[in-house]
Amino acid sequence: MRTATDLRELAEEAGRELEDASATDILRWAAETFEKRFCVTSSMEDAVVAHLASRVFPGVDVVFLDTGYHFPETIGTRDAVEAVMDVNVITLTPRQTVAEQDAQYGPKLHDRDPDRCCALRKVAPLREGLTGYDAWATGLRREESPTRAGTPVVGWDEKREKVKVSPIARWTQEDVDAYVAEHGVLTNPLLWDGYPSIGCAPCTRRVAPGEDARAGRWAGSGKTECGLHG
Ligand code: SF4
Repeated sequence: MRTATDLRELAEEAGRELEDASATDILRWAAETFEKRFCVTSSMEDAVVAHLASRVFPGVDVVFLDTGYHFPETIGTRDAVEAVMDVNVITLTPRQTVAEQDAQYGPKLHDRDPDRCCALRKVAPLREGLTGYDAWATGLRREESPTRAGTPVVGWDEKREKVKVSPIARWTQEDVDAYVAEHGVLTNPLLWDGYPSIGCAPCTRRVAPGEDARAGRWAGSGKTECGLHG
């Protein structure tokens, strides 16, 4: 069993060595290094990273966080990924149902205190769900927002003491679109209905043409990230 110090050193070295590597080579390194202690996380906006990972690691664990507030299309995308791809979908849920949370904190906590709501429904379940892994992969891309501009392809997740792999960190939206088209990768239908970035339904609105892709997330609240990547 590797210690946190071992993992941090591995992450820092790989981050330097793999900066110019392809997404497939980055994922191959992660799969060979961590084997079953590696997983992919997916918001089910699209299945690009899950698809890339399944090609080098058939049956790879794909972790999906079901907050209880998702659009039906997001749950449908999760179900379709589970049905057609060679991956093992694992659905994490918060400790409380939405009804239980409403009873304790009052209804619509997402409107009054979205940071608390994300902490309860996203950050805590992911922390618990990643316990059995040494490394996790995300679909973060540098061009998505200023807060993601410095995303390493392999880095150290200090909060969870895990290796964090972002194989498509250098990809542009055009790269994503080209990969989806070439491989017929499953995508969330909302992407084609005015939602270029998809989170929980109460906290995601359509964006206007030309608007920033993430402008519809927690619009008007000043919040830009859920806490999973900060
Ligand atoms: Fe709650 Fe909104 Fe965060 Fe989802 S995105 S967990 S509904 S605050």
